Amino acid sequence: MHTILPIRHQPPIPLDKVILRDPPSAEAIEMDVLVVGGGPAGLACAIELAQLVKRDQESGGGMPDLSIGVLEKAESLGEHNLSGAVVNPRAFRELFPDLHPSDFPFRQPVSAEAVYFMTERRAQRIPTPPTMHNRTFYTASICEIVRWLGERAEALGVNLFAGFPVEALLVEGTAVRGVRTTPSGLDRTGQPGPSYAEPTDLTGRVTIVAEGTRGLLGQAWREWQKVGSANPQLFALGVKELWEVKRPLEAVIHTLGWPLPTDAFGGSFMYPLGPSQVALGLVVGLDYHDAHLDVHELLQRLKLHPLFRRQLEGGQLLEWGAKTIPEGGYHALPQRKSGDGVLFIGDTAGYVDVPSLKGIHYAMQSGMYAARATFNALKAGAPTAAALAACDRMVNESYIVRDMYRTRNMRLAFKDGLYLGGMMAGMMTVTGGRFPGGRIEMPEDARTPRTTSAPAEPFTPDGRLTFGKLDAVFKSGNATRDTIPSHLIVGKEVSGEVAEFYAHVCPAGVYERVGDELRVNPPNCVDCKATDVLGPRWTPREGGSGPKYRGM
Ligand SMILES: Cc1cc2nc3c(=O)[nH]c(=O)nc-3n(C[C@H](O)[C@H](O)[C@H](O)COP(=O)(O)OP(=O)(O)OC[C@H]3O[C@@H](n4cnc5c(N)ncnc54)[C@H](O)[C@@H]3O)c2cc1C
Ligand code: SF4
Repeated sequence: MHTILPIRHQPPIPLDKVILRDPPSAEAIEMDVLVVGGGPAGLACAIELAQLVKRDQESGGGMPDLSIGVLEKAESLGEHNLSGAVVNPRAFRELFPDLHPSDFPFRQPVSAEAVYFMTERRAQRIPTPPTMHNRTFYTASICEIVRWLGERAEALGVNLFAGFPVEALLVEGTAVRGVRTTPSGLDRTGQPGPSYAEPTDLTGRVTIVAEGTRGLLGQAWREWQKVGSANPQLFALGVKELWEVKRPLEAVIHTLGWPLPTDAFGGSFMYPLGPSQVALGLVVGLDYHDAHLDVHELLQRLKLHPLFRRQLEGGQLLEWGAKTIPEGGYHALPQRKSGDGVLFIGDTAGYVDVPSLKGIHYAMQSGMYAARATFNALKAGAPTAAALAACDRMVNESYIVRDMYRTRNMRLAFKDGLYLGGMMAGMMTVTGGRFPGGRIEMPEDARTPRTTSAPAEPFTPDGRLTFGKLDAVFKSGNATRDTIPSHLIVGKEVSGEVAEFYAHVCPAGVYERVGDELRVNPPNCVDCKATDVLGPRWTPREGGSGPKYRGM
């Protein structure tokens, strides 16, 4: 038996490359407000801000036009977004009060739901825990939501810069003054090739960071500004597939138990997306103990269970993808989500309620609060840290933090295994979060030791119902240029065992153990950020690289 402590092999955040004190270049594009990330948080923020300006001007308030720019690393909006998804429409209703739910980009209302406890052969239906009730909500594809929000933002005059990954914050003193995008056209050694394009600098009076889960800019800014949290942020990895099926799925399904070991936290979901499609996914907390645990492979095994097989048989895999989810909850929220000239919203701030697996409406709502704080600060003339802190106050007094407070210890209770965690979570539900009181302390995921025992029984995909990682990456639409330089920073002293651990962590086959060496295949990366949590650091690469999700 061999024990691996992931943090020992993890390189530090490249702070000197992410927080830049250089003055912006002479050709910098000047905007009033920059939003990094065109997901639900960033787009809801841009829409709300543009609407506030419009309403103010219509009522004679005197607010001048604001130039708002959204920078997104995907080549086209939606291509890097992945979710379940069952959506609580609350934030949509507030952002678009004149629209009816049938106008929103949802697939169907949730009409029935079921939760199962799984063993390898059986699925035992159990009562739906109160935190998992989804009636009055809708199933949806986040790619479609993002494209729809993008159209609304564009119609309001927002500038959408798709294919522009941000690699650094431009700072002056403690203030954020803008961003620098990645260069493109570098060759494998990092030298400019024939299609080289320089990075672009953009300046903004306010920069709103909406970069999603495990954001590099957010991590770097918090380390630089020494912004802590009571508990470290925790993450889960979700691997998801979209299937064309022969018969409609009747209910939203969640499962617990098999194929996860009892000392890992997680579960699966299958959601109906209209008459002929289903979304299927497995989410596993990255504090699991077995170094050979492989979330992609567990999802493949899950599909062989009768509960899923009978739904998928005769169907076809349309898309595959993966993404992490911040799941540390209330106790992992940063002490500050705002600073001089900067705000953090959505997943990068950690606004996800794990027991209900919901983040989309919190991301959008936090974006709307950021827009209101920005609008007021600009109207008053100075987007100082004190003025932008209004966003933190709005979030703290809202249902975002209220919901997260109610479930504050639920995910944390599972650190001692499924059975004890399940019992404690039940008590927490009954007492509205008051049991056990206080805060359950957690180490960051990379500080949980992993043990390797005997090599796991190899799994052979059949290419029909189950797929290997390379076929899966093909189904993500990833067509990254294979001459791209590596965007992954690998630590020192990576032994054969550690290389094998990374190979299991990464759902996209980026890492391979070759003898006692680590081989890295960067173009395969789908930006899920799992190894950023447990191993090599992820950094942004040339715009348009990575997956091209359409209906995830
Ligand atoms: C498997 C899974 C299932 C889920 N199920 C549900 C569900 O059923 N219901 C629900 O409500 N929530 C669900 N969630 C959570 C939900 O998807 C997120 O909370 C939500 O998407 C967060 O929105 P966001 O805008 O903060 O981040 P994202 O949606 O991740 O958007 C961030 C955007 O920023 C871009 N970006 C990142 N870095 C950069 C950079 N450096 N430069 C430029 N652009 C950048 C990304 O490409 C992306 O488009 C699920 C998540 C997962 C992974
Ligand atoms: S290398 Fe890319 S795809 Fe693999 S785990 Fe890391 S971020 Fe995810």
